[in-house]
Amino acid sequence: MRLFALALLLSPTGAAFLPPPAHLGGGRGVAAAAGPAARTQAVFMHLGGGRGTAAAAAGPAARTRAVFMEADYYARLGVQRSASDKEIKNAYRKQARQYHPDVNPSEDAKEKFQTINEAYAVLSDESMRARYDQFGEAGVKGAGGAPNMQDFDLGDIFESFFGGGGGVGGPGGARRRSGPMQGDDLRFDLELDFQTALFGGEKRIRITHLENCGTCSGSGVAPGASVNTCSDCGGRGSTVQVVNTIMGRLQQQVRCPTCGGTGTVVEKYCGDCDGRGVQKRSKQLTISIPPGVEDGNRLRVRGEGDAGPKGGPSGDLYVFLSIKADPRFRREGMDIYTEMSVSYLDAILGSTLRVPTVDATVDLKMPAGTQPGTTLRIEGKGAPKLNNVNMRGSHYVKVKVEIPKSISGEEQKLIEQLQKLR
Ligand SMILES: [Zn+2]
Ligand SMILES: [Zn+2]
Repeated sequence: MRLFALALLLSPTGAAFLPPPAHLGGGRGVAAAAGPAARTQAVFMHLGGGRGTAAAAAGPAARTRAVFMEADYYARLGVQRSASDKEIKNAYRKQARQYHPDVNPSEDAKEKFQTINEAYAVLSDESMRARYDQFGEAGVKGAGGAPNMQDFDLGDIFESFFGGGGGVGGPGGARRRSGPMQGDDLRFDLELDFQTALFGGEKRIRITHLENCGTCSGSGVAPGASVNTCSDCGGRGSTVQVVNTIMGRLQQQVRCPTCGGTGTVVEKYCGDCDGRGVQKRSKQLTISIPPGVEDGNRLRVRGEGDAGPKGGPSGDLYVFLSIKADPRFRREGMDIYTEMSVSYLDAILGSTLRVPTVDATVDLKMPAGTQPGTTLRIEGKGAPKLNNVNMRGSHYVKVKVEIPKSISGEEQKLIEQLQKLR
């Protein structure tokens, strides 16, 4: 189990933010020792630190709570908070050269590389960096927070490693095959009821994803079997063919047919996974929904996507949230809107309205002479700010004044008297 140090525990409804930790140097295992947190599914809004492999230990009966990592992106890149864009970029490149999986195959480096990518994705974007400076991680989570995160392109780094040319996946794409590739990210659509979106909660979901085969540890090779360098291509994965054309003899590089381009020949493949290194598994996860989420928000569960081929790291699971409408309330961001019918007499004389809010019914004073269509405001009864139930939006009540369609004879007389008065 690997979780980053300095985990901050939040109850689904309680909320607090600690100042960013002084460093987050890829520490491990602290959460594992932290009692209830040890059996916790880590759920992140886009930008979690650490890998959510904790989930693997979380059985169906596991008690769960949201674990949020308050990450210090500046410390990850080793720069000051006042660093210029150029300093950030340079620091990132320096670190990326050190930890890129194609350069540094160790497990720690893979994690480290991911964490610096996350840090850079935030700090290299002017508006995200500003939000992060102001609100910490919460500022760059959710609400359209990081549209480019998933699409974050490594091409830029590859160019600086290998001197450009070809680009990723181009003619030089073979170099990407050298390291284990990360598995696919997965999508899960989750519908929440209106209240859960407001105040958070837990949802159990069942997913099916690829996991590393336990028998062969993801290598695809039968235990004890040998893996030899392909003798036909000398381990290069490609051979040169000479073709006769009308323009003369041409040399052509083709994938080695003996080894299929891998450069190695496997004596015996793993029978449990048919040599693929991964197996489909169904799994139950408990997802902690932070308070204040909105329709279209995504939660990222680290490491719960598909396992990578050849023992590569797992992708992430993205939980796409949709929020069920509530017939009583309309929500816009942190604000809640309702309408209320009042009698024309109450509108003229003033009254106390009993307004149902998302918490409970609230008494609201409607002043005398309230005009039709007036909007009254109840502070602090709107939706919570994402991840912070202590900051709430407002509840707005639009007043609809009802004019009676039929009135009694006595009412008729009294109103006619009123009419003469005016
Ligand atoms: Zn296997
Ligand atoms: Zn070969």
